[in-house]
Amino acid sequence: MGSDAPRPALTVDVVVERLAALDERIDSVSRAREQPITVTAVTKGFAADVIRVAADAGFSAVGENYAQELLGKVDTLDALGERRPTVEFIGRLQSNKVRQLVDVVDLWASVDRPSLVAEIAKRAPGARILVQVNSTGEDGKGGCALGDTAALVERAREAGLDVAGLMTVGPTGEPPEAARPGFEAVRRLVDELGLEVCSMGMSGDIEVAVAAGSTNVRVGTALFGSRA
Ligand SMILES: *Cc1c(COP(=O)(O)O)cnc(C)c1O
Repeated sequence: MGSDAPRPALTVDVVVERLAALDERIDSVSRAREQPITVTAVTKGFAADVIRVAADAGFSAVGENYAQELLGKVDTLDALGERRPTVEFIGRLQSNKVRQLVDVVDLWASVDRPSLVAEIAKRAPGARILVQVNSTGEDGKGGCALGDTAALVERAREAGLDVAGLMTVGPTGEPPEAARPGFEAVRRLVDELGLEVCSMGMSGDIEVAVAAGSTNVRVGTALFGSRA
């Protein structure tokens, strides 16, 4: 303790530079980039001002995981006016939190069970969602089982939700390569179900995700540094 020098404030220039490096990583594996790959700036675990930095660096979407933390960033979002990014909720979500979040969340990206479908359909009719798939089979990880995905997508459609696609997270504590089979399985499901968005890949496994056909990577540390 006592040896931590204060970290220099994160600047827009630094984030723009890191985004260029990220684009190179994406380009190194995506064939002709038939479909553009979007990048969600994952601002969870960082100070509210990092949302402003992300917006100034050109990001139009941010990802947040925790209801209370996100609610604490509403003023920062509002202050951005026209540059306000859309907000993607990517974390584990308790149904009783949905009501508090309806005015701030634009994309519910971690929908993984019928009760959550019902609650979002009730509080935010027609909302845009991604169904989260547990593609690794790990216990305690968010996401519905691969084999339950088609039924949950169907259920969400019947409830009037706008199912844009699927989202998944690679295995925890494994080398990036270990994510490949799960990512490929989720990509196949996206195609079979006629969906548009295939959200997979984070700072550590972007290359594997893009090579498997991701259309959206969610990146925090590679843009903003490590979390406190
Ligand atoms: C934290 C998180 C990310 C971003 O992870 P980084 O390693 O910081 O890039 C992406 N997706 C989900 C679901 C997350 O929880």
